[in-house]
Amino acid sequence: MIFEPEIETRPWAEQRAHDDPLYRDQVRHLFAHSRFFRDKLTSAGFATPEAVGGLDDIAALPLTEKDELRRSRSEAHPIGTHLAAPMESVVRIFSTSGTTGIPSYIPLTAGDLENWVRTSSRSYAASGVEAGQRIVTTYNAGPFVAGAALEAFPRLGLCHIPVGTGNTERLLAAIQLLKPQALACTPSYALHLAEVAQGRGLDLRASSVERILVAGEPGGGEPAMRAKLQEAWNARVTEAMGIGDISVSLWGECEHQQGMHFSGRGFVHFELIDPDTGAAVPVTDGARGELVLTHLQHRGAPLLRFRTRDHVVIHTEPCACGRTSPRVRCIGRTDDMLIVRGVNVFPSAVREVVNRFQPAVTGVISIRPKAKGVKQAPPLKVVVELAEGTAADDALRERIEHDIRATLVVSAAVHLVPAGTLPRSEYKSKLLDFSEATEPAPEA
Ligand SMILES: [Zn+2]
Repeated sequence: MIFEPEIETRPWAEQRAHDDPLYRDQVRHLFAHSRFFRDKLTSAGFATPEAVGGLDDIAALPLTEKDELRRSRSEAHPIGTHLAAPMESVVRIFSTSGTTGIPSYIPLTAGDLENWVRTSSRSYAASGVEAGQRIVTTYNAGPFVAGAALEAFPRLGLCHIPVGTGNTERLLAAIQLLKPQALACTPSYALHLAEVAQGRGLDLRASSVERILVAGEPGGGEPAMRAKLQEAWNARVTEAMGIGDISVSLWGECEHQQGMHFSGRGFVHFELIDPDTGAAVPVTDGARGELVLTHLQHRGAPLLRFRTRDHVVIHTEPCACGRTSPRVRCIGRTDDMLIVRGVNVFPSAVREVVNRFQPAVTGVISIRPKAKGVKQAPPLKVVVELAEGTAADDALRERIEHDIRATLVVSAAVHLVPAGTLPRSEYKSKLLDFSEATEPAPEA
């Protein structure tokens, strides 16, 4: 089912003509109501909305970093000076599960929230779920933006069964008793559930779950991890991706499983940049880069050229579902990236290589950098969990090290450990563990 067919099947080439007037209006709104962007644009030499121009000129504007928004917060401005609507018009304030202690607040007007729910509805409809079906979810939505994504389910006519995070018993009971056709959770949790069920002799392949909708972290798009999940559950896995500051479920994969379609048409404009230079990268088939997002009709705290830190590869060839928007696959996040002797390494990419050794490994890994920070000297320590019943042998270790070097151009020291040694996550898996980082950072 396509949620908004007239929008989602419109030729992509026409999108910019629809978005350009919205963008110009968004920029006028920023100049009128956002102290943060008025100051930022003015000091960059764009003193008026007219000087900013239209979408064709957007690459000339400065990028916006999450840290700048954070720095604009104070007791007088708890949300930040990018707040661009009177507080009386804000109907919801989400917070991000920030790592720095103080939460970042995300204010939404009624219109903003509605646009998020529509975006999310487009993304989740793409997965193939249908009205009348039941979906069980494990997101602790409470304060977090995932709450808005969950509002898409009643919009699609689904019966939503929220069981929350961290309650495997309640989830397995809901699956057995209420027989949902779909499960929405993180890929690591779907994998964890498969292991728990296996340990108890519970056959998830025979359960009612036909679709698993994963989000919250990369992994659901990695071929080996997806294959393992689909096999364990006898279900189709599709993924979705959003970013709290911009929109939930901005990207959603369809049943054809060829990457996540852009679902934010008319609400958000996306660009690709080279993460090292900030230069624009043309959005063509196979292009890689960091996603940069701009609101088109946001009111609460609209953002201009916001750096997501998500690295993606673009797919533009036509999709059999009829949706015409480009698709992405997430390669990794800059926040997790390491640089080993000048080579960029994403932990999820290391996991992807290790997963080629299924069924000898469980797919759970832990990367243990030797130094704090991004820069590391080789070899990179990678702890790899062996599958139940697999004995550690040097030949396997050497083959994994060889494949990591051949694929990622980085030298790794693989340590094989027994099944169940590494911690499992009921939310996002933690691939990086800095607890052994005692050495000084390398010079280069
Ligand atoms: Zn499609």
